Amino acid sequence: MRILLIGAPGAGKGTQAVRVAKHFGITHISSGDLLRKHVKQGTSIGRSVNQYVDRGDLVPDAHVMDMLRKPVLAANESGGYVLDGFPRTVEQAEKAYETARELGVAVQAAVFLDVPTEDLVRRLLARGRGADDTADVISHRLEVFHEHTMPMLDYYANREELVTVDGARPPAEVTLSLLGELEAVRQSLPE
Ligand code: AMP
Repeated sequence: MRILLIGAPGAGKGTQAVRVAKHFGITHISSGDLLRKHVKQGTSIGRSVNQYVDRGDLVPDAHVMDMLRKPVLAANESGGYVLDGFPRTVEQAEKAYETARELGVAVQAAVFLDVPTEDLVRRLLARGRGADDTADVISHRLEVFHEHTMPMLDYYANREELVTVDGARPPAEVTLSLLGELEAVRQSLPE
């Protein structure tokens, strides 16, 4: 299975992606985790993206695409992937589609984890992960999500690949719905 998990910061993408990956025996790839790892290890990508991540701004597409190419292709060879945090803009979705289509590895389902803004803010403040989880950066990250990522939902809805799951419920309930929806997609795929 090749799945995208879309949601605002704090929507529970990471938690749910781990469960989806386990259920389908596929690889979980988180663009945010990979970027943070590059920053921590001080790689050339890490040094280029550091300031964007700390401010809660989107990292330029070229860095993100470079970083993801290898892990996505490797995951595809070994059963599939659940991508968490990428794509995040209509432009990234279009570029990813072009590349994936050429390679025959286009996405089969895009899931939107829908959570009201007030719940997101509460969760993010409680998480306090680091420089990008302070009150100011949180509100900026939510603005970036509304401006750049929400329009991407239409892109997948128009392609009839979008599934929306109510992410405001307890994590176990969200997982149950999510896996139910994805199993239905899997059943409908050609052999
Ligand atoms: P996340 O953990 O997914 O919320 O990502 C943390 C940060 O990494 C974001 O605030 C962005 O700075 C950066 N980032 C993650 N994924 C992407 C992406 N697909 N495009 C651009 N920047 C990204």
